[in-house]
Amino acid sequence: MNNPILEKKLLIDGKQIDASSGKVRQLMNPANGNLLAEVAEAGVEDMNLAVEVAHRAFYEGPWRQMNSRERTSILLKISQLIRENADELARLESNNVGKPIRESEDEVQLAANCFEYYAGVINKIGGQTIPVAAQGVSMTFREPIGVCGLIVPWNFPIAITSWKISPALAMANTIIVKPASQTPLTALRIGEIALEAGLPEGVLNIVPGPGSAAGEALVKHPKVRKISFTGSTEIGTQVMKLAADDIKRVTLELGGKSANIVFADADRENALSGAVWSVLGNAGQDCCARSRLLIEASIYDEFLSELSSLFKAVKLGDPLSTETEMGPLVTAEHRKLVYGYVETGIKEGAEIIAGGQIPDDDKFSAGNFLQPTLFSQVNNNMIIAQEEIFGPVLCAIPFKDEEEAVSIANRSNYGLSGSVWTKDLQRALRVVKAVETGVISVNTGHSVHMEAPFGGVKQSGVGRELGLAALDHYSDLKSVFFSLPDI
Ligand code: NAD
Ligand code: MN
Repeated sequence: MNNPILEKKLLIDGKQIDASSGKVRQLMNPANGNLLAEVAEAGVEDMNLAVEVAHRAFYEGPWRQMNSRERTSILLKISQLIRENADELARLESNNVGKPIRESEDEVQLAANCFEYYAGVINKIGGQTIPVAAQGVSMTFREPIGVCGLIVPWNFPIAITSWKISPALAMANTIIVKPASQTPLTALRIGEIALEAGLPEGVLNIVPGPGSAAGEALVKHPKVRKISFTGSTEIGTQVMKLAADDIKRVTLELGGKSANIVFADADRENALSGAVWSVLGNAGQDCCARSRLLIEASIYDEFLSELSSLFKAVKLGDPLSTETEMGPLVTAEHRKLVYGYVETGIKEGAEIIAGGQIPDDDKFSAGNFLQPTLFSQVNNNMIIAQEEIFGPVLCAIPFKDEEEAVSIANRSNYGLSGSVWTKDLQRALRVVKAVETGVISVNTGHSVHMEAPFGGVKQSGVGRELGLAALDHYSDLKSVFFSLPDI
């Protein structure tokens, strides 16, 4: 039996409204192709309205006037309500994105943790007093920027929406979220939850619609003072250019092609499991995916033969089942794109040693599944080693020594994430310092810790999210000098 179809509208000024064009977008469940929801699809006019609303809420509303304790308590309440609605939110995310329920549950907790963390900074982070060479007092105030446009991709909707909203709210800005048009459902629920928590109307507007219309209108609008964009490097480039027209502040979190460097002395079991899950988590649709596996030549064959067995054993299936380890890709179009890279790899002369097929089992036929795919014989210059595939595809490349490992890792336009596996911690430290990346971990495939800064170098982005670093990107410093000749 199908679940009833959800009907969702735009959330602007605390109200659910239809798109002015009357357009709706149908969302299919990626695991079975069933109609999941119909969501109002904002165009330029709706986005312009949302910006006017957020602008008014910033200059005339109560939000900025509230004291720090009042704002803290609203953010804490949002966190609490996310936890109370965690099951519903996790199911909604899994139904919309196709990710295994266990991953959705973790991401919902991350969302709740974000609001809690940034609630805690509101009354602790302030300006400075500075000993300038003049008589008087110099001090800084940390001030909100104004209307912030937050543009979110489809791969981690609730997590990324929350990690953008919560620091932006902590710094007393007002917000328009433009969720990815494929996956707006949990962001819309967060908007409702925020109202229930007492956030004044108009402070947080959730406006799903196509990037080319609603997204671009947000980036171009002169009343928007900051854009925080997470998505592809291709669109990020356009966003940065458009934002330059009126000197909007911009944070960009873009693509990656991160290296997972395994030395011969690494703990074998952990390195293998890390190599699997740092690329197959969320079916590889992860900006941090370690999609280039660099293996020390002396263990290359052995490591890959064990790894290919693990790839073949991954349990594909219904995202709502707790047994499922990997779900479908987000849409049929996206699977086509990813599958195209599998074909490219074969043409380039790489060898598939696991997967590479669309599973033919009946239970998968209505969903966008693809087998976890492992390529051996990859050269770092191949397209499959240079372009972000954004699917369950891993490229294995041998290296002879530490120097070569670093040089291969750095031969990429991207620099987002990465891992190093070795028992020699001196070597680990040398390598983490030499790899050009924003985030890197030793002996684990995880990179996102909410309390620590996150972001990329090179074409993976500018600016940092999460941790206290995010606050710098959602506030401006005002420098104030009091001339006091006696002081
Ligand atoms: P995308 O660039 O296609 O879209 C991202 C968002 O931008 C969507 O909301 C989309 O509607 C909007 N958009 C599209 N065109 C626009 C335009 N002209 N103006 C304004 N907005 C526009 O990315 P995607 O396909 O949703 O997500 C996958 C990409 O996101 C991958 O490249 C991945 O690496 C990246 N990503 C990066 C991070 C990170 O933190 N670095 C995290 C997750 C995903
Ligand atoms: Mn895209």
